[in-house]
Amino acid sequence: MSGESVSNSPYDVVIIGGGPAGLTAGMYAARASLRALAIAGESTVSQVTVTDHIENYPGIPEGINGFDLAERFKTQALQFGLEIASGDVTTIEKKRWGDRDGFEIAAGPMRYGALAVIIATGANWRRLGVRGEERFIGKGVSFCATCDGPFYRDREVAVVGGGDTAIQEAIYLTRFAKKVTVIHRRDRLRATAILQKRALANEKIAFAWSSAVESIDGLDLVQWVRLKDLKTGATRELAVDGVFIFVGLTPNTDAFRELIGLDRGGYITVDAHMQTSVPGIFACGDCIAKRLRQVVTACGDGATAAFSAQLYVEEAKGEAY
Ligand code: NAP
Repeated sequence: MSGESVSNSPYDVVIIGGGPAGLTAGMYAARASLRALAIAGESTVSQVTVTDHIENYPGIPEGINGFDLAERFKTQALQFGLEIASGDVTTIEKKRWGDRDGFEIAAGPMRYGALAVIIATGANWRRLGVRGEERFIGKGVSFCATCDGPFYRDREVAVVGGGDTAIQEAIYLTRFAKKVTVIHRRDRLRATAILQKRALANEKIAFAWSSAVESIDGLDLVQWVRLKDLKTGATRELAVDGVFIFVGLTPNTDAFRELIGLDRGGYITVDAHMQTSVPGIFACGDCIAKRLRQVVTACGDGATAAFSAQLYVEEAKGEAY
């Protein structure tokens, strides 16, 4: 592998990802006196940074803006000596470092050596795959209410999806939009009860139940969506100025497909210690196969992954207690 290597001696642990899972892993690793580097993605954003309000992170009863929480994670990790770089990791290759097994990680022109790797690359927003979706991105189609909500003051928007993200963001959008129509393919919501209750009680939120978006249309900007009633088959147009799509996540794991075990959805399979199918590679946060994807679970996974990596590195160096 060619490229610019930062050092001939490998890091103890390289963490791929700069979200809550990665920064927590980095903080724990650095605090355990490991030489640790976190590589934050260049072309991806951590979902937490575009979340307007987080009210279920323990210890912050007043709630906190997601970007501010992420900055706090970063400050705390840096305090313990975590190094942070940015780049999009394209490959992890096995490599011997002297008499030790390890890895080389490629991110753009950079090459980083590591004895252990923690993958914390998170997940990205899934697309609907309908006509008009790609064409109108930035022209009425959005995947981020915090970023684009203020453009829709006194306008009418649609939110697609029935999970926690869709409902939380629909509620947030009512700060700006005069009407928010939630389009959901079922006749009940998947979102947690407290969010459902708030949305159903919000006078600015309407629901298009059992409906699928067939296309997103307009001239230069979005003007309407074509909806199909999944029970009757009837189609209709709904006039909107914006469409916010929150139909779940796709894990950012393509780069590791050949190297480690993934489940059918592309999520990394790990054991209870965050160990992947390859010894020395751990994973944590939204990119792993699990049931509950929250900031608090990402942090918990991150701490576990760092501790497992610590034990692995100490063993590799012959320093195990
Ligand atoms: P999610 O829970 O997977 O929900 C996705 C929603 O989109 C579902 O309602 C699903 O419909 C719908 N959907 C999926 N594909 C679709 C398609 N092709 N066309 C139309 N609709 C489609 O995803 P999420 O809401 O982004 O949440 C992801 C994770 O983050 C979850 O674990 C969630 O709990 C967590 N989260 C938590 C909070 C919070 O606690 N406040 C906030 C945000 C996210 P079906 O219901 O029919 O499957």
